[in-house]
Amino acid sequence: MNRPRVDLASDTKTRPTAAMRHAMLQAEVGDEQAFEDPTVNALCERVAALLGKEAAVFLPSGTMANAIAYRLHCRPGDAILCDRTAHGIDSEAGAPAALGGAMIIGLNGERGVFTAAQLEAAIGAPTRHDPRRRLVVVENTSNMGGGTVWRPAAIASVAEVARAHRMALHLDGARLMNAAVASGTSAAAFCAPFDSCWIDFSKGLGAPVGAALAGSRDFVDEAWRVKQQLGGAMRQAGVLAAACLWALDHHVDRLAEDHANAAALAAGLAAVPGIALNPLTVETNLVFFDLEAGAVTAAGFCALLLERGVRMGAMSDTRVRAVTHLDVDRGGIERAIAAATDVLGQPQSSSSSPSAATTRRTTW
Ligand SMILES: *Cc1c(COP(=O)(O)O)cnc(C)c1O
Repeated sequence: MNRPRVDLASDTKTRPTAAMRHAMLQAEVGDEQAFEDPTVNALCERVAALLGKEAAVFLPSGTMANAIAYRLHCRPGDAILCDRTAHGIDSEAGAPAALGGAMIIGLNGERGVFTAAQLEAAIGAPTRHDPRRRLVVVENTSNMGGGTVWRPAAIASVAEVARAHRMALHLDGARLMNAAVASGTSAAAFCAPFDSCWIDFSKGLGAPVGAALAGSRDFVDEAWRVKQQLGGAMRQAGVLAAACLWALDHHVDRLAEDHANAAALAAGLAAVPGIALNPLTVETNLVFFDLEAGAVTAAGFCALLLERGVRMGAMSDTRVRAVTHLDVDRGGIERAIAAATDVLGQPQSSSSSPSAATTRRTTW
């Protein structure tokens, strides 16, 4: 498929900038799994400091960071408690069960944020019939919740319940830097209550590959063993780490632009007839909205947008997601609003059957 002019399908769609590629070209490299790659080593130290932990390990993906956490925190038969929209439930090909031996208990949070009371209720009084409640996972920002930022007080109260039940805490920080930039709370402050946490470089930070998982020195030593098992140990990975370091230096503060663009997109779309969207729910770079009954389906809407050079993602029959990022500027936002207005202003035609590319959720 040709690249749409305005690709709001995901913040994974960014391409490395010329300056980032230049940094990759210049990278000093070595054998990363022998700790001989100076660029990877520098990145790990940088991330450990950023997240306020003793150590960090560089990984090919956030999915592997979560898998390692499931493996290290859980034993077969244990339960992971997280929001029912969590990435681990439907986007990791069953990794919590396959690699962590764990089952998931999904909590019915509000826009991806569950409460201490909900957690407490789901833990209940342990009996020998229950799976052992072992791990609480928080996703900040919440992806399918709509880019919601977990407030530090909400995290603190959830962590207090988890600790009281001797559970471990893991932070899925695929978009943690969005949360930090949007709220002014530092990444380290967000991570403080967690045993393990990670950030992704291939989402809003705009690197082609990479995530880094942080925790205590002991945790990271054990994480290395699982990284080795999963085939995640690399060699001259400094070329990738250089892109990630570049992203930390140049692509964090600018996330505010993505948030402003998301707010502008939300304001514009909210005015389009047939779109149900409360712009106040847009806190970061994710914009979710619903198509009102009688309007086109989400998949049909996305197919019609694509014909106009704009890509968004259909999340259900009625729900659409648009994600702002480095490769979409304000002109792109205006083009997207104009395309949506054009689509919903037109009489609906039955010939607009959606293509497979827009009906299948692929990456986020
Ligand atoms: C994308 C994402 C992941 C997985 O990260 P990858 O680097 O794509 O493997 C995990 N959790 C959330 C919330 C995500 O959005």
